[in-house]
Amino acid sequence: MRPVFDAKDLARYPFLQEAQAKIAGSQLENLETFLEGEVGRRIIERATDRLESAISLPPQALNDHFREFHARIPNALESLYAYGMARVIASCTGDRTVIERLIGYEAWRSAFYLSSEADEEKRTEVARQLGLEVSGEAVPVVRYVEMVAGLREPLWRLVNREVKGGFVRVHASELDVLLRERIRVVIRGRGLPGVPPEVCALLAPAVGHVSGVLQSQMLRDLGPIDESRYPPCMAALVAALAGGANLTHMGRFALTAFLHTIGLSTTQIVEVYQRSPDFDIEKTLYQVEHISGSSGTEYTPPSCATMETNGLCVNRAALCERVGSPLGYYRKKKGGPQQAGTAGRDPPSGSSG
Ligand code: SF4
Repeated sequence: MRPVFDAKDLARYPFLQEAQAKIAGSQLENLETFLEGEVGRRIIERATDRLESAISLPPQALNDHFREFHARIPNALESLYAYGMARVIASCTGDRTVIERLIGYEAWRSAFYLSSEADEEKRTEVARQLGLEVSGEAVPVVRYVEMVAGLREPLWRLVNREVKGGFVRVHASELDVLLRERIRVVIRGRGLPGVPPEVCALLAPAVGHVSGVLQSQMLRDLGPIDESRYPPCMAALVAALAGGANLTHMGRFALTAFLHTIGLSTTQIVEVYQRSPDFDIEKTLYQVEHISGSSGTEYTPPSCATMETNGLCVNRAALCERVGSPLGYYRKKKGGPQQAGTAGRDPPSGSSG
């Protein structure tokens, strides 16, 4: 018989069908009214805290964080609704990094509770709903490949595993990691709710706060600005400007987005363009501010593939083989962490640095 999950269980495993039904049947469905009430405001606050932790805490700090703050979930139902609200706010930011950070955080959170779940029936049912029925510590190959896609250590690579009869052998000690990755796949697969613009407008303070937290965290991750770590393509664009050359539209967009993302201020970026022969301060200022987020969209530097298509991938270095974007190059060169969702948004039409 299926175990009965109480409110605390649903708060711990909010991806369960029972939890989804609870969220769907709640006032969250009528967001506009709900947001204006006292409970609504409290849930927005909890959801914002959740997103802040998701963005700021490195994975190695998460278990301690959950132990410290969530081992006894206060007001389980509000915690469950805060999960739903965090997804709504993440959706409103439209930022892939925020979304990926939230998915990772939720996966670690549920896996944390699952690893200490004393009720074997509940643990089995959660695993069943995750589609992870492990028989004799073996996982179907297709499922295994899907789960380990985000794991970088060589030990997870299929070539390093024992595969027999369509199953991959796993050790008991590895199950928690696989469960966590499976939760990540399931949450990502559900996507985020589509939120009407008027609801995002009501949530604007929370959305703005979360975007600010992300910006600060990215700058902390990147560390102090260091020109010696610029990827060859960006160094070439800066050198071209210094030499008095005009840049193409895409070249200006890529350079501006790159310099903004690594932390240069608008004034510092405008100074780089001062050397350009067609320099026009007002136009440049407007364009730099537009790409930096005054339009409501903060653009990130293009991927290496887009740079290459536009003839901007030049003087490739050995490190280029291991990165997918100029920003990735800069991070790796500094030895900083890699983040998801930091490259590839297309430039705004008609903009330039
Ligand atoms: S591979 Fe990427 S980082 Fe390297 S030069 Fe080309 S675009 Fe720049």
